[in-house]
Amino acid sequence: MLQKNVPLKNLNNYKIGGSASYFFEIKNMEDLKSGLLGFYSLFHSEKDRPPVFILGGGTNILVDDKGFQGLVIRNLLSYIESANGEDLIVGSGTDFSELLKFCIENSLSGLEWAGGLPGSVGGAIRGNAGAYKGEIKDNLKSVTSINLKNFDYKNRSNIECNFGYRTSVFKTDEAKNEFITEAIFSLKKGSKEEISRLIQEKIDHRKARHPLEYPNIGSIFKNIPFGLVPDKFKDEFKQYIKEDPFPVLPVAKLFSIAGFKGKRVGGVVISEKHPNYFVNVDNGSSEDVRNLVEFAKKEIKDRYDISLEEEIYYL
Ligand SMILES: Cc1cc2nc3c(=O)[nH]c(=O)nc-3n(C[C@H](O)[C@H](O)[C@H](O)COP(=O)(O)OP(=O)(O)OC[C@H]3O[C@@H](n4cnc5c(N)ncnc54)[C@H](O)[C@@H]3O)c2cc1C
Repeated sequence: MLQKNVPLKNLNNYKIGGSASYFFEIKNMEDLKSGLLGFYSLFHSEKDRPPVFILGGGTNILVDDKGFQGLVIRNLLSYIESANGEDLIVGSGTDFSELLKFCIENSLSGLEWAGGLPGSVGGAIRGNAGAYKGEIKDNLKSVTSINLKNFDYKNRSNIECNFGYRTSVFKTDEAKNEFITEAIFSLKKGSKEEISRLIQEKIDHRKARHPLEYPNIGSIFKNIPFGLVPDKFKDEFKQYIKEDPFPVLPVAKLFSIAGFKGKRVGGVVISEKHPNYFVNVDNGSSEDVRNLVEFAKKEIKDRYDISLEEEIYYL
């Protein structure tokens, strides 16, 4: 049901931000179509319509303190179906942790790297989420999406999704009006105990290394492909290279060397535990986060001639 002025603070992991002027939740495709038609009917023409934003788990977005002058659709399309034993059809609103639980219960291997990855399947596909040398694209057969303007469905093969480092076609103009509805994952039968052990290992590793005790949105910046590090700093930084899944200079390491740990603006602090996490320790605002982001970008550019690129989405 279409609602007005809905607070987004408790619908994102950062616990930051104002309200959405329009909002509805969807549990099936009928909810999506009827909600959108209701919303469209409020405006005379397409050009009068405010923008539309798709909200998954809200684990990778910074919501502005002033809120969002548009429609937020909260995706709760949550289901997992076995297609032919090792293939799974997964609704885009499914929590990644639910998918991993299903994999353990059904002894399906391939997604162990994602242990502890928060958010929805749709959000993970859009950004080709990855960790521990794995990426979403490694086990994906195809992705279905719907165009929110004309309700046309599109099915893309893995190759057609144009996956890259934390990116996909869904971040480009080609698919800017598309809502990812479901995807087919291709997995392999494996040992239940081993799958469960590997997933738990990643969860434990995250708990030990990441500041999960505070509201956060994961890594603020993408790691830096080592090829983009200026030659004069390559020798100094080569000891820190990590495979992600290609050689990168971790931003957390760079911030640590630059002395950013503990830097605070308002209620937001650059984490001591993992400095690519800017944690909300005390009622932080989007302004606080943006100030810290600008500080980090400028300092790193001035000192090392490296341009940082955000991984997060600004709403
Ligand atoms: C503690 C923590 C750890 C994290 N660790 C990692 C990590 O290891 N690796 C990693 O890659 N990321 C990581 N992240 C970031 C984040 O969890 C992932 O990017 C996640 O996949 C985002 O999913 P979401 O549902 O929360 O997306 P949201 O934050 O809700 O949305 C992110 C973007 O995706 C779009 N979107 C969401 N659903 C759809 C859909 N169905 N169709 C089209 N567009 C959609 C949104 O419009 C928005 O632009 C971490 C975040 C946190 C908080």
